Amino acid sequence: MASVRLDNIHKTYPNGHVAARGLSLKIEDGELLVFVGPSGCGKSTALRIVAGLETPTSGTVWIDDCDCTEVPPQKRDIAMVFQSYALYPHKTIRDNLAFGLRMRGHDRAEIEQRVERAAGALGLVEFLDRKPGQLSGGQRQRVALGRAIVREPKAFLFDEPLSNLDAKLRVNTRAELARMHRRLGATMIYVTHDQEEAMTLGTRVAVMNEGVFQQVAPPMEVYNRPANAFVAGFVGSPAMNFFTCDIREEPEGVRLISGSLTVRLEGTDWSAHSPASITLGVRPHAISLVPVSGADVTARIDVIEPLGSEILVHVRLEGAAEEVRVVLPPEVGVEPEQIVGLKLDQARLHIFDGASGNRLN
Ligand code: ADP
Repeated sequence: MASVRLDNIHKTYPNGHVAARGLSLKIEDGELLVFVGPSGCGKSTALRIVAGLETPTSGTVWIDDCDCTEVPPQKRDIAMVFQSYALYPHKTIRDNLAFGLRMRGHDRAEIEQRVERAAGALGLVEFLDRKPGQLSGGQRQRVALGRAIVREPKAFLFDEPLSNLDAKLRVNTRAELARMHRRLGATMIYVTHDQEEAMTLGTRVAVMNEGVFQQVAPPMEVYNRPANAFVAGFVGSPAMNFFTCDIREEPEGVRLISGSLTVRLEGTDWSAHSPASITLGVRPHAISLVPVSGADVTARIDVIEPLGSEILVHVRLEGAAEEVRVVLPPEVGVEPEQIVGLKLDQARLHIFDGASGNRLN
């Protein structure tokens, strides 16, 4: 396997659209790195540049110590697995797996051995003589992966490979991919718009927006310490609540004020930043229900959504139009229109510069 490095990649399409703005990143040998971000943020462009299907306008693609920027895709020794499995419907699974190797002129015994090995690793041995139409979506996805594995490439690239599958199958196939990654010790780059998929699969995730890597870090770090308000809002479900706050410096410390919400911060030193305003981020899991007398803010319950092990409660803060999402244990027994007190967990507040969105705490 190999490491892959992007060095200051820019991509402007012929129609003038800028899809990558200075992407730099090293994917370590054996790592499963996920590019995640909203539709149109440039994930596929970045992946296609690694594959050689697009040429960057400037910047360099390294595979191990080789500058591959101008190397054609078929010479890069990289396998791409797409969302559409693109299997040959009239060929057996065995022939689907073997086809690429035959085209490359490998000898018969070698092909047989590689096909057997990949089929064994993917649990496809019993399906080798079937046609793709006789397999489930998940099994077909495994064949598509098998076809990449038999090539024994330096790295695997996945472009939304699970988005055609139904929810349950997606979760199973996702776990299988994670298992495969562990077993093969393969370098993998995986593109998805689904933050949950990114969080569960990635050794690290690269959160993208508007052609820029916003944060590249292990999943829990991205969740616990998002680098900016964009990452904070994109990662995590239900999504983080945001409050635009004025800052009041007082002898006892800093006070953040947003409508009827007041939060006192301790031990804050922003002298290096002196932000004009703050975007305060609070996850729905970091808000609890308290008696109104001891609350940070009072709110009126709007909509209650049971999620099974938890309930998602939409509330409106006193005198404010905006909605706040709170996740509570199901036994709290709240009713629509009820007035409740809310307390924010001080240890789990995310504080961002109101102008740049960058994390301050
Ligand atoms: P993502 O994979 O994150 O959805 P893409 O990398 O496919 O995003 O696309 C990034 C942006 O570049 C989008 O706005 C898309 O419309 C644009 N784009 C993609 N391919 C082309 C192309 N061949 N020509 C012009 N614009 C393109």
